[in-house]
Amino acid sequence: MSNLKLIFISDLHLSPSETLKTNIFLRFLKSNIGRSIHLFILGDLFDYWIGDDDRANPLFSMVVPALREFTSTGARLSVMHGNRDFLIGKSFSGLTRAQLLPDPFIIDIYGNRTLLSHGDQWCTDDIEYQAIRSMVRSDEWMNNFLRLTITERHQQAKNYRQKSETSKENKTTEIMDVSLSTVDQAFVTHDCHRIIHGHTHRHAHHKHFIDSQPMERFVLSDWHEQGQALIFSENGYSDECVT
Ligand code: MN
Repeated sequence: MSNLKLIFISDLHLSPSETLKTNIFLRFLKSNIGRSIHLFILGDLFDYWIGDDDRANPLFSMVVPALREFTSTGARLSVMHGNRDFLIGKSFSGLTRAQLLPDPFIIDIYGNRTLLSHGDQWCTDDIEYQAIRSMVRSDEWMNNFLRLTITERHQQAKNYRQKSETSKENKTTEIMDVSLSTVDQAFVTHDCHRIIHGHTHRHAHHKHFIDSQPMERFVLSDWHEQGQALIFSENGYSDECVT
C-alpha cells in the first residue's frame, strides 16, 4: 500500500457543549471514508470521558458510530489515551474497531522510526501534575472510579477540571510545557529521530540536535473553530487545516 496516508491528530477535546467542533470532526471522518488511511488520535479526543458505560453521553451516540463507519470501510484507527480520556476502554475499542495504543508507541513511517506520545508524561517540570497523573492512572484508582455511579463520576470529573484550571493559573507556561531534557532522553531511549506528540497545544515543528545528530519533533495543535492534521504519505508530510 504505497499510497497509504498516516494522519495524526490530537487534543480535539470534544465536549457535548461544542457541537461545531464535533461536526468538523465528523465531516473530517466522512471525507476520508474509503481512502487508504491510518488515523492516529494521540490523546484527548474527548474533553472528558468517565467510562465506556456512559451511554447517555451525546458524544457516545455521535462519535462512536462515525468511527465505526470510518473503520468499516477499510481505514485503520489507532487511539492513544490522553490525560482527559484515559478511561476509554475495551468496549469503546471493540465498538469502533480502534486499536488502543500504549504511550509511548513506536511506528515506522516510510522507513523512519517515529515515537508517538500524548506528551503529558514528558511535562516533568510540573511535579504536582506528575503526582496526580501517577495516582489517577493506577489500576486501583481507575477501578474505584469506575465503580461510582455515572452521576458521581460526572461530578468528580467536573471538580477535577475546575481544580486543574485553578492550579494552571499559578503555573508558568514553561512549567506546563514538555521538559526538553526529558524529550531528548526519549529520543535516545527509544532510538528514534522523530517524535510526534500533543497535549501542550503548542503547534510546532522543532529541531533538536543530540550529539550533533538532527532530530525533529512535531507538536500537534488542539482543535477550536478549525482542526489540524499532520499527514504523512510516501511523498513526505503536510500540515493541514481541518474545517
Ligand atoms: Mn492533554
